[in-house]
Amino acid sequence: MEKEELINRYEYYLKVISEELQRIFEYQREYICCQNGCSGCCEKGMYPYSELEAEYIKIGYSRLPDEIKEIVKNNLKKLKAELAEHKGENFLHDCPLLIDGSCCVYMYRGIICRTFGLITENSEGKLTIPYCAGTGLNYSKVYDPEKKMILEEKVEELGYNVMPKAYNLSRENMMNLSFAKTLGIEFGESKMLIEWLIPSLLE
Ligand code: SF4
Ligand code: SF4
Repeated sequence: MEKEELINRYEYYLKVISEELQRIFEYQREYICCQNGCSGCCEKGMYPYSELEAEYIKIGYSRLPDEIKEIVKNNLKKLKAELAEHKGENFLHDCPLLIDGSCCVYMYRGIICRTFGLITENSEGKLTIPYCAGTGLNYSKVYDPEKKMILEEKVEELGYNVMPKAYNLSRENMMNLSFAKTLGIEFGESKMLIEWLIPSLLE
């Protein structure tokens, strides 16, 4: 498939999953505190991206004003040095695309960035609670950080209308959705976002 056609189809895929995620956020809204300027999920993390997602975010980067591109490049230069020091380890870092508390390529962000803030589970049923549940934000009123679990009795006690719900929003699941396959979308290899961006934008 021509690259342009693949990007067109991926944009359609993003539109569909974003509408679905919007419905989920709306359903869970009693537990969600996300708002402009809150960016904890883009800090001190790791951001796995497929080749296709990385290609798309690079399109977003190419459309940024020069001064913002410079900031991103400077962030990447610092991360490149730190990444070399942490070779072979899990390297938690701020996303280089986070500028003044906002994502500079928000419309182009990948799958994992679109699911930040929700409770997710993978195909084996392993739950991931948003990290900010432990910092007084999403789900925090019904989350026990010591037991690392949602307390159902709190849901009733505090009068919530719906239960906290986990969705299978693992990247693996999202990339294997049947409609993505029908569209012929190939996501390609996955690695950390900075591993895609450093060679493309700095070298
Ligand atoms: S790409 Fe944007 S949304 Fe995703 S981690 Fe980076 S700053 Fe956050
Ligand atoms: S997921 Fe948590 S840290 Fe991220 S924007 Fe929402 S409330 Fe803030």
